[in-house]
Amino acid sequence: MVHPRGFKDHHFGMNTDISFSITGEHSAEASDALRHELVRLECMLSRYLDGSDIQNINRHAGIKPVCVNPETCMILSASLSFSKLSKGLFDVTIGPLVDLWNFKQATRAPDKIRINKELSLVNYRSMMIKQGVSMVGLPQSNQSIDLGGIAKGYAGDCCRKILENQKIASGYISIGGNVITLGNKSDGSCWKVGIRHPRESNSLLGAVSVTDTSVVTSGDYERYFDDAEGNRWHHILHPKTGYPAKSGLISVTVVYENSMTADALATTIFVAGKERGLKLLSHFQGAGAVLVDDVQRVSVTNNIASVFQAAEGIDISIL
Ligand code: ADP
Ligand code: MG
Repeated sequence: MVHPRGFKDHHFGMNTDISFSITGEHSAEASDALRHELVRLECMLSRYLDGSDIQNINRHAGIKPVCVNPETCMILSASLSFSKLSKGLFDVTIGPLVDLWNFKQATRAPDKIRINKELSLVNYRSMMIKQGVSMVGLPQSNQSIDLGGIAKGYAGDCCRKILENQKIASGYISIGGNVITLGNKSDGSCWKVGIRHPRESNSLLGAVSVTDTSVVTSGDYERYFDDAEGNRWHHILHPKTGYPAKSGLISVTVVYENSMTADALATTIFVAGKERGLKLLSHFQGAGAVLVDDVQRVSVTNNIASVFQAAEGIDISIL
């Protein structure tokens, strides 16, 4: 869609809603380039698309390592670093469990015996990555990689590069709630990125004012189902138990320059809980977080407290 000073777009991709708004002389070209880039990344990283690197790795699990794009290799290496840092709370070999839970269609939790069976396949340590030659393999058949916790973040960083190459000085991209901002708004003010209230639909708990950074949220309200007993089963899994993580947090927003790191961190902190999560966050200089616990208390790290505006009626504590 043509916008007076630029381009706005809203479409479905990477299994989620994507929207962006950019202004600048080359915004038409940049808009096309963004759409192409998002399709390219999805074709490379989605495990559901025929011919993608991830599907290729998964189909050859237990058979042989396969050659992948160096970018795929880099994302998997970065994933592995998050696994090591979090002692396995972030684990992209979570694929068999994600399939078993089948959050899109399920109405009740899977049987514990089946959970334990799939759990035995989840092990980041078993992933074989040879970066020099871009080969990746999984040793056991039925193992599978799922980049749901990190790929959208990586896509955000790629989109930023595209916009920078096209000399776009102002804009934002939202990939399923992963927001990447570029420069300031055209009126010179900072971008204000809203953070959804995890329990009140269509309502915000606040917003962060940012420039050239990304704001990524992981919450238990994004993909979930309620069973007949009223239990909520959401899509962020604890790789040690095989069940949705119950860490005391229901929403984690990470504010950080690098969107891939912010994405992986948000998922990891969600699983780790507040105390351990904050320790993980402290490894990334300048990273800030907004946490919501299971009694809906909101806390904000000190380094972003001055740029966080709470919505009316929301009290915050500063960490
Ligand atoms: P969203 O995809 O809604 O932005 P996240 O970034 O937190 O949310 O990613 C959740 C997705 O990551 C899940 O749908 C699943 O594909 C994958 N996943 C679930 N649990 C884990 C985990 N412990 N480590 C890595 N990836 C995970
Ligand atoms: Mg994530």
